[in-house]
Amino acid sequence: MIPFNKPPYTGNEEKYVLESIKSSKISGDGEFTKRCHKWFEEKLNCKKVLLTTSCTHALEMAAILLDIKEGDEVIMPSYTFVSTANAFVLRGAKIVFVDIKPDTMNIDETKIEQAITSKTKVIVPVHYAGVACEMDTIMDIAKRYNLFVVEDAAQGMMSTYKGKALGTIGHLGAYSFHETKNYTSAGEGGLLLVNDDKFVQRAEIIREKGTNRSLFFRGMVDKYSWVDLGSSYLMNDVSAAYLWGNLEKADEINQNRLNTWQKYYDGLKILEKRGIIQLPKISEECIHNAHMFYLKVKDLEERTKLLEYLKENGILAVFHYIPLHSAPAGLKFGEFNGEDKFTTNESERLIRLPVWYKIPIEDINIIIKFIYNFYK
Ligand SMILES: *Cc1c(COP(=O)(O)O)cnc(C)c1O
Repeated sequence: MIPFNKPPYTGNEEKYVLESIKSSKISGDGEFTKRCHKWFEEKLNCKKVLLTTSCTHALEMAAILLDIKEGDEVIMPSYTFVSTANAFVLRGAKIVFVDIKPDTMNIDETKIEQAITSKTKVIVPVHYAGVACEMDTIMDIAKRYNLFVVEDAAQGMMSTYKGKALGTIGHLGAYSFHETKNYTSAGEGGLLLVNDDKFVQRAEIIREKGTNRSLFFRGMVDKYSWVDLGSSYLMNDVSAAYLWGNLEKADEINQNRLNTWQKYYDGLKILEKRGIIQLPKISEECIHNAHMFYLKVKDLEERTKLLEYLKENGILAVFHYIPLHSAPAGLKFGEFNGEDKFTTNESERLIRLPVWYKIPIEDINIIIKFIYNFYK
């Protein structure tokens, strides 16, 4: 069987995890967390980053930071993971879904303005497959209507838009280190990117159960106490130690994934030329990170058949995202604004092929061969 995913492991993670355990400081904000924080702040040119237990929790922190409350509206694509919406629903917001663009599967920035009402507070672009949304347009709309932008960059680490790292363009951003993402912290983890000074101090407080403990440790207050809303959003240092093993080799992991992506692309190009399948498009302003390699087939029926055929031949390819607006909770907590021209249709045609760090070239060739055989 060729698995769909293998968590990134470069070889040093074991050593760092042991080092962390032996240091007797394994809770949050230990030595490895500090190393990771510094790495991100330098690499991303970001004001402040905070490792969290997941991207889901980083998004929840964003919703708390922006004081989202009952009745507020949040605009996002429907073609995304549940956490993008849940984080805001938990604070009482109504989700307003807008359509995506078929070329990148990202939010259609030209459909955002018509979805804005007096209750709108936030726009949440999701950088699908690590390919950037049209951030200049989105930031311009946000500025004109006085809205916040939270980038769901769960899939976007190492990608850029016009030279800027994804997650550093909006007011806040979030990365995921779940084991299915390009970089992982022992299976689960995330990062909140704080790009606006005014949120920095409160972000630390929310992450530390609503206390000013971080300020206390830096000697800026003489005792710590409960000062705000909060929860326990810190990543433990053993997880950060695993992540450090990935970060040290971040460029190597990225290049390896890009090579895999290109092999698939070159191998399947002819099928696209013949009009049989469609391949992903990367916008000109974007350098992507090969988070995903997907292809689009004719329709749902053909997808089911191809997935089955691949499975029979030992290849685990998958699809994902039942559009949120059509899911039970989506019907309850949100509504679709405008026409669903692409969200449902395009989501039913998409297949993700196996991509992981150091997937053997022979496996890629086998997968390409079976896709050709299917269409023979
Ligand atoms: C993976 C993912 C998340 C959730 O990340 P976790 O770290 O598992 O909480 C959120 N949004 C998108 C777009 C994702 O792909």
